[in-house]
Amino acid sequence: MKGLMQDWPLRVSSILDHAARFHGEREIVSRSVEGPIVRTTYAEMNVRARKVAQALRRLGVKEGEVVATLAWNTGRHMEAWYGIMGLGAVCHTLNPRLFAEQLVYIINHAEDKYIFVDLTFVPIVEAIEAQCPNVKGYVIMTDAAHMPQTKLRNALCYETLLDAEDGDFQWVEVDENAACGLCYTSGTTGNPKGVLYSHRSNVLHAMIGATADAMGLKSVDSVLPVVPMFHANAWGIAFSAPMVGAKIVMPGQKMDGDSICELLTTEEVTFTAAVPTVWLMLLQYLEKTGKTLDHLKRVVIGGSAAPRSMIDIFESKYGVEVRHAWGMTEMSPLGTLGSFKAGMEELSHEEKLDIKVKQGRPPYGVEMKITDDDGAELPWDGKAFGHLLVRGPSIAKSYLKGEGGKILDDDGWFDTGDVATVDQRGFMQITDRAKDVIKSGGEWISSIELENLAVGHPKVAEAAVIGIAHPKWDERPLLIVVLKEGETATKEEILHYMDGKIAKWWMPDDVAFIDEIPHTATGKIQKLALRDKFKDYKLPTANAAE
Ligand code: ADP
Repeated sequence: MKGLMQDWPLRVSSILDHAARFHGEREIVSRSVEGPIVRTTYAEMNVRARKVAQALRRLGVKEGEVVATLAWNTGRHMEAWYGIMGLGAVCHTLNPRLFAEQLVYIINHAEDKYIFVDLTFVPIVEAIEAQCPNVKGYVIMTDAAHMPQTKLRNALCYETLLDAEDGDFQWVEVDENAACGLCYTSGTTGNPKGVLYSHRSNVLHAMIGATADAMGLKSVDSVLPVVPMFHANAWGIAFSAPMVGAKIVMPGQKMDGDSICELLTTEEVTFTAAVPTVWLMLLQYLEKTGKTLDHLKRVVIGGSAAPRSMIDIFESKYGVEVRHAWGMTEMSPLGTLGSFKAGMEELSHEEKLDIKVKQGRPPYGVEMKITDDDGAELPWDGKAFGHLLVRGPSIAKSYLKGEGGKILDDDGWFDTGDVATVDQRGFMQITDRAKDVIKSGGEWISSIELENLAVGHPKVAEAAVIGIAHPKWDERPLLIVVLKEGETATKEEILHYMDGKIAKWWMPDDVAFIDEIPHTATGKIQKLALRDKFKDYKLPTANAAE
């Protein structure tokens, strides 16, 4: 027998409708690309997003076609998202930090028809335009007064396009399973692969993300997504925040400590989210200036492992709750978040930190398990490491155009490529990416755990650990360190600090000091580049073994 409930399609346009109707006056504040802070509301955005859809229709864009954005987090970018998706087209977020060849590849692979581009990124598209012959035009996201001199073919002014429309537009009623968003994984090996989100998966993901133990967003919150909309959908915040009617504060292109601190204060931000490198900059800025975080209640840190020291400083010094999160583009992206369960608040400070450094537990809507190399499930004892597999309604089932072949096993599980433990309480901890784990004498050493420990040293700004070939043990860990500005330190000093905090055989065999650790387009340590840089490195312990 079928249930007798309404068939109410889960389309992202309904999120903006809801925000406009029940939270119409709530603001979206942006540090504009042109410079000044600008303000709009959900009611205004609902009209302007419809104008975007009308303008695209006038340009000939049809349902199911792909329109790209190459833009910072701003209100304009957000309304463009809703306009593109509300037309039934697919919004493809381009990451400006990708190499030119990668951008060319994904623009052509996705068959982007138009590209919405911020002023800052006009030179990027000018440089690759000739290699993207199927792009019909470029919408420059500014007003007529700021239009740049450009030779771009068919360069259109965003505000002029919108001025020609009246906003009287009915959202296109596509099937809830129709595609609406596209984001490529950065593809550290091989070509980037396209993850194609549907209206339904985005709406469900926004609901999952907003729940109290996930991001916990409320209408009274002021939300600052520092995590870019071009990196895994700003972790769904451009959907979750309007869904609950929260104020949104968009940082534009400025993510340095000073600029972020200013927005946190003046816009009375209560919730924010970003990768650890952003928080490193903010915390250094706060330390230097003695400023405080008066309104901020919660910060979500993810994308890379949040170091214990960072979590501790946020919580102990600034009174901000840290929720460590893990996810990936293929998961829309939220996978786990580290909110406490009953009884955990009563634990000691160090015990709480032991939990907070873990990446957390899945909200409803994400299934998770760890397996050995043969696919057998491993125990949840906090010790056994294995391949981390996931399943759920906002997790990819294949890549665009079947790239990469079959990505689910016969039971529908997706292998994340991460290696993790899960403890008795269901808290997952990433120990490594499968390809970064250090294999020493048949056992695995977690590079992430060593990195986390090393950055706890007061002189260390950033640390990376890679495996170096070793005649006896196969691989042994090399710790690569960037010191804080003006600091000097010896190898012995760093190793002495780590000694006793980890198993003896996990201790790095050597420490290399370098000026800068290379990062990927999404802010992760570029292990591949480091392995290449240190490919001829000889560990001091290698000779002893010969
Ligand atoms: P990209 O590979 O394009 O940077 P993602 O942002 O989707 O794309 O990266 C997902 C990966 O980032 C995860 O598979 C995991 O390896 C890593 N990651 C994400 N969050 C964390 C975290 N909190 N701790 C450790 N690793 C993380």
